[in-house]
Amino acid sequence: MKFVDEFRDGQLAEGIAGAIRKTVEVNRRYHFMEFCGGHTHAIARYGIPDLLPDNVRMIHGPGCPVCVLPIGRIDLAIRLALEHGVILCSYGDTLRVPASNGLSLLRAKALVDKARGDIRMIYSPNDALKIARENPSRQVVFFAIGFETTTPPTAVALLTAEREGLQNFSVLCCHVLTPAAITHILDSPEVRDLGLVALDGFIGPAHVSTVIGSQPYEFFAEEYRKPVVIAGFEPLDVMQAILMLIRQVNTGNYRVENEFTRAVTREGNRKAQALVAECFELRKQFEWRGLGEVPYSALKIRERLAAFDAETRFNLTYQPVPDHKSCECGAILRGVKHPTDCKLFGMVCTPDSPMGSCMVSSEGCCAAHYTYGRHKDHPQGHATS
Ligand code: SF4
Repeated sequence: MKFVDEFRDGQLAEGIAGAIRKTVEVNRRYHFMEFCGGHTHAIARYGIPDLLPDNVRMIHGPGCPVCVLPIGRIDLAIRLALEHGVILCSYGDTLRVPASNGLSLLRAKALVDKARGDIRMIYSPNDALKIARENPSRQVVFFAIGFETTTPPTAVALLTAEREGLQNFSVLCCHVLTPAAITHILDSPEVRDLGLVALDGFIGPAHVSTVIGSQPYEFFAEEYRKPVVIAGFEPLDVMQAILMLIRQVNTGNYRVENEFTRAVTREGNRKAQALVAECFELRKQFEWRGLGEVPYSALKIRERLAAFDAETRFNLTYQPVPDHKSCECGAILRGVKHPTDCKLFGMVCTPDSPMGSCMVSSEGCCAAHYTYGRHKDHPQGHATS
């Protein structure tokens, strides 16, 4: 298949690996964070750490939208179905994230009074709109999660509901923002003061930048002196991005480079940005699993569309809930620990029976390691070694 096979070619990968070996300086250590779970998945699936020299290490970042959802947000969605009797709609992975009291949305589905509410898996916000149109006497809530990539479709759903006057449709908005999370990581004590996580640069997610462009990352190169390469999700994209980061570190000329020129521009998609700006504004604070409260890191629905905001319509109040005490997802999402540092990894926590959010989605680093790397866990993968 054109475009996919080309970016998975083993010989080309060997060629880039050779260029990386020639480019690294032997007395230097390189620590790069791949922010996005899509990159984490590609790195584990294609065995990229095995192709890297010992002094180049990849650190998994918090860029999996399912992994960073705190328990309290899933609890809100469960309450909507159990207590308010709504038809709660969300994506498949979201339904499996562990919540309080041993529940998940999937488990809560069995407890719902079907005469009133339900919990349903959907593939897009359009599916939730369709359910609302087909059930005019029931309240339908779309539990919207994800980074900047999935925000424009939620905006379109809100505007469609407004245009059609769909009075039984609302959105529980949990959309989060990539640059704010990177700032938070760079300002964290582990990176800034304690030296627990060495970070020499970032691989930025291409799909996010198809919407926001590469420009929002320039701040990290200019203010924090951290290079960023926006990269696609195929193995050769990731390898090429690592080579580009190594070159920047060697020269000390830090900037944002775009490996994914086939779809990303500096400005991004202005039309999508305008839709998002029309529907959403910044939240002052939002809790991320692993990162805690991160200022201005998430979106809420604008006052003008408050009629379609589930938090307003159902008068929801957010309650933070601590993670399972043995789960290391928080430290893993901050780049401080590795999946195998968790006592539950592969024992009681597996993709079939996830105890923490990082084991739920294929983009979660615990799930990626379990599926592709647990039998030969490479010491290079360890964030703190
Ligand atoms: S293995 Fe499971 S419990 Fe442990 S950190 Fe990963 S997701 Fe959490």
